[in-house]
Amino acid sequence: MNAENTAPKVLIHSLSRDELAGLFTEMQEPKYRADQLWSWLYVKKVMDWSAMSNMPSSLKEKLAARFNLNSVKMEKTEGESGRTRKILVGLQDGEQVEEVLIPGGDRKTVCVSSQAGCRFRCTFCASGQAGFRRNLDAGEMVGQVILAANVYGERPSNVVFMGIGEPLDNYDAVLKAVRIINDQDGLGIGARKITISTCGIVPGIERLGEEGIQVELSVSLHAADDELRSKLMPVNRTYPLTCLIEACRKYFDRTGRLITFEYTMIGGLNDAAAHARNLVKLISGMPARVNLIPLSPVEEFDGKASSPDRAEVFMEILGRAGINSTLRMSKGSSLKAACGQLRYRKK
Ligand code: SF4
Repeated sequence: MNAENTAPKVLIHSLSRDELAGLFTEMQEPKYRADQLWSWLYVKKVMDWSAMSNMPSSLKEKLAARFNLNSVKMEKTEGESGRTRKILVGLQDGEQVEEVLIPGGDRKTVCVSSQAGCRFRCTFCASGQAGFRRNLDAGEMVGQVILAANVYGERPSNVVFMGIGEPLDNYDAVLKAVRIINDQDGLGIGARKITISTCGIVPGIERLGEEGIQVELSVSLHAADDELRSKLMPVNRTYPLTCLIEACRKYFDRTGRLITFEYTMIGGLNDAAAHARNLVKLISGMPARVNLIPLSPVEEFDGKASSPDRAEVFMEILGRAGINSTLRMSKGSSLKAACGQLRYRKK
């Protein structure tokens, strides 16, 4: 077999709408065929070329020869229908990532991965400890959303880029995926229902602020002083708190969007009243809210979740300073679904 035959095909879900239109022009096909295909991909969400009944067989054969329609496949699930479910997702080259489906009230959220592994090595995160493998293509992230839609039986209402990987370290592909899932003639998931989460990549935050897209930004803080944050999150040595908070302020000035700060509460490490007061000092006056999340234990990190009492005291200190916060128990912990653990355990 020659190299041409063994090279992986391009994922059809990696093509933006403009790229798809350009492809049909190049193939000398009418523009409405590109619209038909877009609708099969993102409205009907089919995973089989033969199901595209209003498209000529010859065209489908040409497309099938060049493009892969199955961007991702479900390899394993944990959890039950109607509750938090974790899916181990297989990629074309044998890499694996995970996504988590989190239904709640009228929300159907999907948490998607943006990289296989992660290079940022936050101490309490299984993905970080497992190391970096590669960036995901846009189509592999879009594919996770379609897979979630097919499992839910309807389009997810919210998409959060909070699975394995650092989204702003795979900036172009993540933004491309965001634009594809946001397209109103396709999946149509509103930009405000899409959250990009970062460990604090300052150039990425600055760039995102310039995009003119109204996505939610969530920044993982986990400590409000540089010494502790650098221990927990080595990225802090490159982008320390003053420069991170400055980037967040600018992001708000440009977009008018509130920032959510994520703060994982680790018993005896970052959950004392003094830590809460540091956090108040750091972000007071900022249009922001704080999500307090008791740690989901991982084998590689010797830490435990904060007790409910300490978490309550922490939250009260924020509240007295006028900072809006919520305390949320990790829905994943009961099925060992903290970021990275399903993939990690299978190896
Ligand atoms: S918490 Fe996020 S940024 Fe940190 S190591 Fe894990 S996946 Fe990477």
